[in-house]
Amino acid sequence: MRQSKLFAPTLRETPAEAEIISHQLMLRAGMIRKSAAGMYTFLPLAQRVIGKIAKIVREEMDREEGQELALPIVQPAEIWKESGRWEVYGDEMFRLVDRHKREFCLGPTHEEIITTVVKNDIRSYRDLPLRLYQIQNKYRDEIRPRFGLMRGREFIMKDLYSFDLDEAGLEESYQAMYRAYTKVFTRCGLKFRPVEADSGAIGGNVSQEFMVLAEAGEALILYCDACNYAANIEKAVSKVPVASGGTMVPLELIETPGQKTIDEVSAFLKVAPEQTVKTLFYGTGDGYIAVLVRGCDQVNEIKLYNSLGGKNLYLASPEELHEVYGLPVGYVGPVGLDEKITIYADNLVKEMHQVVVGANREGYHYRNVEPERDFVNVNYTDLRTANPGEACPRCHGHLQQVRGIEAGQIFKLGTKYSKALGATYLDEKGQSQLMVMGCYGIGVSRTMAAAIEQNYDANGIKWPMAIAPFQVHIVAVSADQLQVAADLYKQLNEAGIEVLVDDRNERPGVKFKDADLIGIPIRITVGPKGLAQGEVEVKYRQTGAEERWPLTEVTTRAA
Ligand code: ATP
Ligand code: MG
Ligand code: MG
Ligand code: MG
Repeated sequence: MRQSKLFAPTLRETPAEAEIISHQLMLRAGMIRKSAAGMYTFLPLAQRVIGKIAKIVREEMDREEGQELALPIVQPAEIWKESGRWEVYGDEMFRLVDRHKREFCLGPTHEEIITTVVKNDIRSYRDLPLRLYQIQNKYRDEIRPRFGLMRGREFIMKDLYSFDLDEAGLEESYQAMYRAYTKVFTRCGLKFRPVEADSGAIGGNVSQEFMVLAEAGEALILYCDACNYAANIEKAVSKVPVASGGTMVPLELIETPGQKTIDEVSAFLKVAPEQTVKTLFYGTGDGYIAVLVRGCDQVNEIKLYNSLGGKNLYLASPEELHEVYGLPVGYVGPVGLDEKITIYADNLVKEMHQVVVGANREGYHYRNVEPERDFVNVNYTDLRTANPGEACPRCHGHLQQVRGIEAGQIFKLGTKYSKALGATYLDEKGQSQLMVMGCYGIGVSRTMAAAIEQNYDANGIKWPMAIAPFQVHIVAVSADQLQVAADLYKQLNEAGIEVLVDDRNERPGVKFKDADLIGIPIRITVGPKGLAQGEVEVKYRQTGAEERWPLTEVTTRAA
């Protein structure tokens, strides 16, 4: 590709709206442009990277007997009503109505529709197992679209669904996908960690997330340095005190006069009560705080202490909390601006995102707070030091904490959808049995962003070779070297190497800046000095290492 023709409008300045590196660099490198909140155009460079990731994903899905198909994005409401998720999905679902007043949604995920397809055409045990996948846009009206492609409202996902005869079959499918995911992220050149996960709105009970390790990650991961235990903090089975609290950051402080209970506040803020799980920050608004720990009956203790002395200010009984706020279990008590909460529970994971805290200003509540992410500064090391003896649930190692980006997730669904939608087969004895299902997602566009979060420097992106938009970038220093550059370009292309050649009429400084920004792994500079000696200058974007290659060896050395 000749750069003079490439549609990759690079920017010198960092756009103000972009908070994290991948978003900034994708805008600056001319890879994406925003059309609406969480909706982006993928310009040619981004599209090439997406193509690379999708190809790796396809190869690994196919290797594990996945078959690609394409399900409709627009899905009828009926099947979602049958599974019970039309209501449950809440505001995250984009809904539409056709001219006949029939309801539809834009698919946020495809369990309902794939189950319907399979149940209509599969009758016999001989036709199973089946592993079907697609790579396609998904639509989720995220309450807080942000970070560019990281949390979009339209994004690209690979979703595979497995249909097996029984639990043993599901286990095989699940392991096949675990292998495939490990290969996909390894081949993409990413540092990642599979972790135990909560299965959330999808359902089922066994699940793992593939976390790309990066500071910008929204997820907190606990891992043990002595055994292989690793879990999303939402799930971590641990006796380590999981804390919430810290300095309160005002995020959309909204006046909520007279609103006290969860239902009142959610109605007032127009947020579904289910979504309070992640998004609402409940306060009594008058300097009191309510900690809600739902779905957990083993809360041992909830302590509130100020950051100075660790003084236990007040501990409410569940009954008290229930009386005051109608909450099942939790804490109500006074809290000041620099105070922290520590919760001791046998199974904390689930509860962390359900910890809800007050705005400490009379008649106000916060909206859009994800406690772990936006509000809490948890330091596990400190807490551990403060509470020696807390250890890995599997061994005696120490739990450590890192941040991760959820790039993929695998779930054992069991018979949740086959039961709801009637997906059965006839076994060898002619008896009707429920199919046993699993589902497996990879965020293809999020993986592209995650790759940048792991591979950049002050000058721009450093693409891992396997997913780079081009492998080689030839930069002709001036018009005098264009012919040699064109010859090299032709040779490399013929050798099957993808090359971008900078043939633009720009100053060398501009070309080098753009080359660093775009981040192609091998840069070959064709300049007057080198050419005089029959050489080109080579620079590796990942390491910064420089070499000189004889013109005659460029093709063999680049391959
Ligand atoms: P998150 O916890 O970040 O909201 P999720 O658990 O809701 O993600 P899944 O339903 O597991 O997402 O979807 C499979 C994959 O799709 C995720 O692992 C992630 O890589 C990707 N994904 C999910 N939501 C988004 C989004 N809003 N933007 C981009 N990618 C997404
Ligand atoms: Mg989500
Ligand atoms: Mg998730
Ligand atoms: Mg997930």
